[in-house]
Amino acid sequence: MLETVRGAVAALADGLNDLASIGVACAGQIHAETGAVVQAANLGWRDVPLAATLAAAFGVPVTVENDVRAAAWGEYRFGVHRGAGSLLAVFVGTGVGSGVVLDGQLWCGAGNAAGELGHTQVVADGRPCPCGARGCLEQYVSGSGFQRRLRDALAADVKTRLAELTENDPDALDATMVAAAANSGDEFARELWTDATRYLTQAVANYVTLLNPQILILGGGLFEALPELFDGVAGGILKATTELARGSLSIEHARLGDWAGVLGAAALASSEGGSAPLPTVVAR
Ligand SMILES: [Zn+2]
Repeated sequence: MLETVRGAVAALADGLNDLASIGVACAGQIHAETGAVVQAANLGWRDVPLAATLAAAFGVPVTVENDVRAAAWGEYRFGVHRGAGSLLAVFVGTGVGSGVVLDGQLWCGAGNAAGELGHTQVVADGRPCPCGARGCLEQYVSGSGFQRRLRDALAADVKTRLAELTENDPDALDATMVAAAANSGDEFARELWTDATRYLTQAVANYVTLLNPQILILGGGLFEALPELFDGVAGGILKATTELARGSLSIEHARLGDWAGVLGAAALASSEGGSAPLPTVVAR
């Protein structure tokens, strides 16, 4: 994978007069000083010296940022909300992540671990999570969480249309199947859908109540594929947060898609700290 990344950077740098720095958005926990990937479960990585490898190959400074935080910064800098004082971006897809900009600064936390919304607990003694805790939001809302629940249900002989839709392969399950089966009255799918909407609303509403952000962005594969999820969660948050937090909040769709993380990482790596405008980019 490092070879592939190095090849991609080399190909991109080929068209530039001057390569000043490299920004990388990477899944997982990133070491604040070394830019190493301490752990990225979905990549199977532990202690991978990503920044050092690219710096040695290209001889320029390299900034590595967590992919979701980079995406939050990208939306903040290049989405429709440039200049907002604060922004909370929540992305739901395979997993659940978030990034926070407070008073114009990307909030990284003391251990560079801020924003792990997917591993906040929403159910006491709930479903086990690969992170070691129980009842994490990600087990009830994400694509991977749906798949785990279907696997358990099939093993327990629960009758559900999702078995046919996935041809008894839980890995083939996606959120649109859950929504379709729930709408057609499938009891198990309805339970998944209700849990997802309820816990996601609860977790994000608590986030909004604590931080009182100006902008809340709801993005990622699930929100893109399921407009009814966006509407349900957005409506629920407004009901569940405080009056003043609600009054100052604007809830928006993500605007930049997969570009958000790319642009955010590039801005964080640039010598202007992302204050200079980037060249025109293709955005949806
Ligand atoms: Zn967890």
